Amino acid sequence: MAVIIDGKQLAQKVRSNLKIKCDELKSKGINPKLAVILVGDDKSSKIYVKNKNKACEEVGIDFVEYILDGEKTTQEELINLIKKLNEDKSIHGILLQSPIPDHLDINEAFRTISPDKDVDGFNPVNVGKLCIGQDTFISCTPHGVMKMFEEYNIKLEGKRLVIIGRSNIVGKPLIQTCLSKNATVTVCHSKTKNLAEITSQADILIVAIGRAKFVTENMVKQGAVVIDVGINRTQEGKVVGDVDFENVEKKASYITPVPGGVGPMTVAMLMNNVIKAASNN
Ligand code: NAP
Repeated sequence: MAVIIDGKQLAQKVRSNLKIKCDELKSKGINPKLAVILVGDDKSSKIYVKNKNKACEEVGIDFVEYILDGEKTTQEELINLIKKLNEDKSIHGILLQSPIPDHLDINEAFRTISPDKDVDGFNPVNVGKLCIGQDTFISCTPHGVMKMFEEYNIKLEGKRLVIIGRSNIVGKPLIQTCLSKNATVTVCHSKTKNLAEITSQADILIVAIGRAKFVTENMVKQGAVVIDVGINRTQEGKVVGDVDFENVEKKASYITPVPGGVGPMTVAMLMNNVIKAASNN
């Protein structure tokens, strides 16, 4: 039976440590502050923003939310708001909650967020820095996964590590973070042939595809570390990951549950990035 990596408990520990750092900053007259922009009324996005607000409260980070109309907001209005927040010295971190409506260009918006306030790590400047190993804001989900490895003393060096999923927010930054720890990284995606053959060779398997219970035990090597990034809602309304947890748990050495695994760590690492931004001030 695998050790279950408790993301909830670990996130709590991260937040407690950050609260100490936040108090230190406040004693020096710096009040860390996060601005979140939400465009439209996507139900999941609203929940994610609420969780971020709650985490900010716990750490002591000021939180301000800008809710824009999903239909009427123009690209110019969105860009002008970001520019205004870039200029505002009281704001240390800016986060644009995705997805945003199709008529808006999210890439231009990410490019506009000042790299110094880009706590999600999506500005191409920060993406580039991550690629060449410079200090930067690492996007929150990959950062949370790396923190889990660190806290559970799971060494990546020399390991065969397979990532399923190549999105800009999860899969691609994970390539860099895992490579920097000297793992031998393979990335799979929807066009990969013989997926199970590749994944079953992995010492460490990270899954981020958005397909409920897609990874079954025959795709996993005995004793592998399995990290499940996926968040999927079943027809019954239950939240499940991309991994068939009940069966894979019996074969893995470590496994993350969903919920209570990578999700809470993502929010905790956002807090980490806001404190970092405020400290760089
Ligand atoms: P995404 O942008 O939709 O990307 C999905 C990736 O999975 C793509 O690279 C896609 O391949 C690949 N893929 C899809 N079906 C596949 C299949 N059958 N076999 C192999 N690869 C397949 O998704 P994302 O934003 O990375 O999110 C992935 C999942 O993680 C979602 O469930 C999301 O909700 C969750 N998530 C969780 C957190 C968290 O905090 N826990 C944060 C972010 C995302 P192609 O590139 O070839 O299309």
